Parts: sequence; C-alpha cells; structure tokens
Amino acid sequence: MSIIVFVEDWNNVFKKASFEAVSYAKSWADLAGTSVTAITSTHAQDPGTLATYGADRILTLSLSATPFGTAQQLAAMAEEATGIVIAGTSFGRSVAPALAALANGSLSTNTTSIPSSIAPVTVERGAFSSKGIETIELSGNLPIVSFVPNSIGIVETHGIGAVSSFDAAGTDLLTVTDKTVASGKVALPEAEVVVSAGRGLKGPENWAMIEELATVLGAATACSKPVSDIGWRPHSEHVGQTGIQVNPNLYIAIGISGAIQHLAGVSASKTIVVVNTDTEAPFFKAADYGIVGDAFEVVPQLVNAMRAFKAEQ
Ligand SMILES: Cc1cc2nc3c(=O)[nH]c(=O)nc-3n(C[C@H](O)[C@H](O)[C@H](O)COP(=O)(O)OP(=O)(O)OC[C@H]3O[C@@H](n4cnc5c(N)ncnc54)[C@H](O)[C@@H]3O)c2cc1C
Repeated sequence: MSIIVFVEDWNNVFKKASFEAVSYAKSWADLAGTSVTAITSTHAQDPGTLATYGADRILTLSLSATPFGTAQQLAAMAEEATGIVIAGTSFGRSVAPALAALANGSLSTNTTSIPSSIAPVTVERGAFSSKGIETIELSGNLPIVSFVPNSIGIVETHGIGAVSSFDAAGTDLLTVTDKTVASGKVALPEAEVVVSAGRGLKGPENWAMIEELATVLGAATACSKPVSDIGWRPHSEHVGQTGIQVNPNLYIAIGISGAIQHLAGVSASKTIVVVNTDTEAPFFKAADYGIVGDAFEVVPQLVNAMRAFKAEQ
C-alpha cells in the first residue's frame, strides 16, 4: 500500500504542479507511515527526477490522453492505494471526480492543505467560490485529494526513486479529436505571476501591451469572461467562477471591474494589483495595491519601469 500520485507532463516535460503533487504525496505518506508511488507517462522525460520530491516508486505507463481514460487506469490501481493525489490542473480537475466515481472513493477538490490527520484523512478546502475555508474528513472508502496548484509548495526531499514500466490498459470510451493549446508561454493554473485584462481594454488589438507586460514579468496572461466570450482572447485564459481558478503570488488586473464571479477565481492570489479608471470599481476593495488610471497610459509605464529595473540587476 502507498500514496499514489498522478504526475502530469506537458509535451513530455513535467509540470510544476506535478512536482508539487509529489511533495504533497510525500507529506501525506510520512504522516501515514507509508511510501509514495508516482504514476506517469512513458513519454515523460527523466522520471527519476521525481525522487527529488519524495517518490519511492515511479511507474511509467502508456497513459490515456483523456481524463476518463486516465481515471480508469488509476482506478485499476486503487486497491494498492492508501490514498491518491492529483494536482488540480485543467486535466486533473476532470480526472479526479471520474476516478472517485470509478473507485468508489471519497474526494476533496479545491484542497488547500496537506492532511492534518489521517484517521480519517482531514484536509482544508476552499468553499463557496473560495470565500471560505472548509475542513472536511474523508471518511469513505479511498481518500482522493485534488489540490489547488501553488497552495502547498514544492519541497525537495529524498525518495527511493525506483523506475519501472507498467501496463494498465484502460477502456477509453472517449477520443481526443482536437486539442487547443494555450498560447501563453507560462501555464495559467500554475503561474506565479498573472497579468489579466478585461473589457476596459476596448478590443483585441490592444492586447499587445498586456502580452508585453506578461513577458517582461515572466507571467501568464488571463482575461475576464466577457473578453473570451466575445472572442478577444481564447477561452483557456478565462478566469473566475466559471473559468480557471488561479492562485499566483501576484495577480495584476487591468480594466476589469471586479465582479463577484471574477473575484471567485482570483481572490486566493497572494498580492492583487488593480489598474482601473473608475475609483468606484469593486476590484479596488479586493486589491492590495490600486492604480487609478487609464490602462493605455499605465501599462506602457509599467513595462518601461520593469525593463529599467531588470537592466539594473
Ligand atoms: C453565472 C455567471 C458566471 C460568471 N462567471 C464569470 C467568470 O468566471 N469570470 C469573469 O470574469 N466574469 C464572470 N461573469 C461575468 C461577470 O459578472 C462580469 O460581467 C465580468 O467579470 C465583467 O468583465 P469586465 O470586468 O472585463 O468588464 P466590465 O464589467 O465592462 O468592466 C470593465 C472595467 O474596465 C474599466 N475601464 C474602462 N476603460 C478603462 C481604461 N482605459 N483603463 C483602465 N480601466 C478601464 C471600467 O472602469 C470597468 O471597471 C459571470 C457572470 C455570471 C452571471
């Protein structure tokens, strides 16, 4: 028996959230007095690196490309698991509930803490669109935790790191017919800095300055829902209650009013900076720093200031 952790890759390279997932599994395993088994794709580069974050056994297999197929493959291993960890990425958030249904597990989504106890497994999770923190006990059959990326952190430790291949054929009922690739250089759910813009930008032609600011900050780009609904930006950038939930160290909101549905997906950000012409914009109430001003004047100044700052380093 061990804590099983699903380790996702993107174009054969491990995601940052995957290292965090292994760190999570290691903390849980230490508490439960057991080991960590990492499940990853045969195509992932250098699976042995997972030992750095606490993986004792690393099983590589021909993973399904669909969340349901992956859930089936993980469910086939459930009998060996004391618990299962999945990072709450876009893909992971689809795998987790399917796995819970297939393996008759008890699932905590949106989890923001490692277990505080193991009998039963007790964790904290964001509730009511992350406005509150709920402490829940996973007292059912198989505890499964899907955690919010960036909420736990990556911890370097030492695992045994034995790599072997494994055959877990799932019956994939779904086929991927199209895969939309996010255009940003940094994956949004895992980003430590996010530059986000809304309808205040007036049109898609004005996003060059947002991308410029994101590039200089090493940030991911995001947007409000109406902006993606009208096609100014791809849906993969939409954050909020009905979009991606982000948890960065820094969230810069430009020309976004701060409607409650938007805040639901970004309020867990550690520092929020708001740029808006309207002093009464609701976003200012959630901001750590506010700039009352026109985005078309403020953003180029931010870009220049960041460039000058970097040049001095
Ligand atoms: C069920 C439901 C779910 C929803 N889910 C989401 C969600 O997940 N995410 C989401 O974002 N929304 C969501 N919405 C929509 C939400 O209610 C708001 O309508 C939306 O967030 C507003 O987007 P916005 O701030 O870009 O646009 P607006 O509300 O039009 O605000 C634009 C802002 O830009 C400012 N501005 C204008 N010009 C400038 C300038 N030159 N410089 C600086 N600032 C300027 C304005 O003062 C204003 O505050 C949802 C709504 C519903 C009903």
